[in-house]
Amino acid sequence: AKQNGSGQLSFYFDELQTDKKRVLLLDNELRKAIENDSFELHYQPKVSVETGAIIGVEALVRWHNEKLGFVSPGEFIPYAEDTGLIIPVSECIINRACQDCLKLEAQNVKNISIALNISSIHFHQSNFIESIRQILERNNCPARHFEIELTERTVMNSEKDTIRKLVLLKQMGFRLSIDDFGTGYSSLSYLVQFPLDYLKIDSSFIQHICSLNDKQAVVDAIIQMAHRLHMKVIAEGVEQRDQVQLLRKMGCDMIQGYYYSKPLPLNEYIEFLEFWELE
Ligand code: C2E
Ligand code: CA
Ligand code: CA
Ligand code: CA
Repeated sequence: AKQNGSGQLSFYFDELQTDKKRVLLLDNELRKAIENDSFELHYQPKVSVETGAIIGVEALVRWHNEKLGFVSPGEFIPYAEDTGLIIPVSECIINRACQDCLKLEAQNVKNISIALNISSIHFHQSNFIESIRQILERNNCPARHFEIELTERTVMNSEKDTIRKLVLLKQMGFRLSIDDFGTGYSSLSYLVQFPLDYLKIDSSFIQHICSLNDKQAVVDAIIQMAHRLHMKVIAEGVEQRDQVQLLRKMGCDMIQGYYYSKPLPLNEYIEFLEFWELE
C-alpha cells in the first residue's frame, strides 16, 4: 500500500472512516427503531399452482430511517445478527405480524397464512419458544395463522434441542418451511428427521430454469423428493410466464415472485386480494 502514494492511502482511509461512521449511525438508529417499533412488513403472495388461489403471504421486513433512508434487510439483518440486536428486532417483527394478522381478520380475509423469516440466532435462543408464544398470546393471535421459515443452516445440526423446538412449534399450530433450499448444506438427513411442511426452492435455481437443463434437473429432483417426503414445494423468485408453465409441468405446488406481485404494504396487499378474487 505504501508504494501507491499517500493519495491512494488517504482515499482508502476516508472510505474506511465513512464505513465506520455509517456503522455507528446504523447501530444508533437500529436501537432507536427497536425502541420506537419502526419496522414495517411488506407481504408477498404465494399462489397455488393447482387452483390459482392465494394461499398465503411471506412477511418481509422494511425499514425506512430518516437519516439512513431505506435500509434493506440484506444490510441490517446481518448487522443485527452480529450484534445480538436481532432478538428485539425479531420480536418487533413478530409483534407487527400479529397486529397485521388481526387487521386481515377484521377485513374478513379467509385462511390467513403469514410466513415469518426467523433468524437462526433467534431460533437457537433458549427462550425462543416462550418469546414467540408470549407475543402471540399478548395479541390474541392463533399460531395456525403463521408459518415459520428457517434456513437449512438453522436446522442442519440435528441436535435434540432443534428437534424439540420444531416439534413444539408444530404442536402449537405453526407450519414449518425450509427457506433457500439447495444453497446451504449438502446433508439432507434433517429432511427425514424434522416435521417439515414446505421446501422453498431458492431463486438461484429458478432463474435459468428455462434455459439450463442442469437447473431443470435439480428442481425436478427436489420436487420429486419433497413429495415423497410428504412436503409441498414453493418456488421463489419466479418472474416469467414460461417459468410458471415449466414449474406447473414439474408438479411444483406453489409459486412466489414478481410474476404475481412484489412484496406489498398491508393495505395494498388487501386491495390486491380483492382484485385477485374478482378475476
Ligand atoms: P428471503 O427470505 O429469501 O426473501 C426473498 C427475497 O427475494 C426478498 O428480498 C424478496 O423481496 C425478493 N423477491 C421476491 N420475489 C422476487 C422475484 O421475483 N425476483 C427477485 N429478484 N427477488 C424477489 P428482501 O425483502 O430484500 O429480503 C432479503 C432477505 O432478508 C430475505 O431473503 C431474508 O433472508 C431477509 N429478511 C427479510 N425480511 C426478514 C425478516 O422479517 N426477518 C428476518 N430474520 N430476515 C428477513
Ligand atoms: Ca424467506
Ligand atoms: Ca428465500
Ligand atoms: Ca434468500
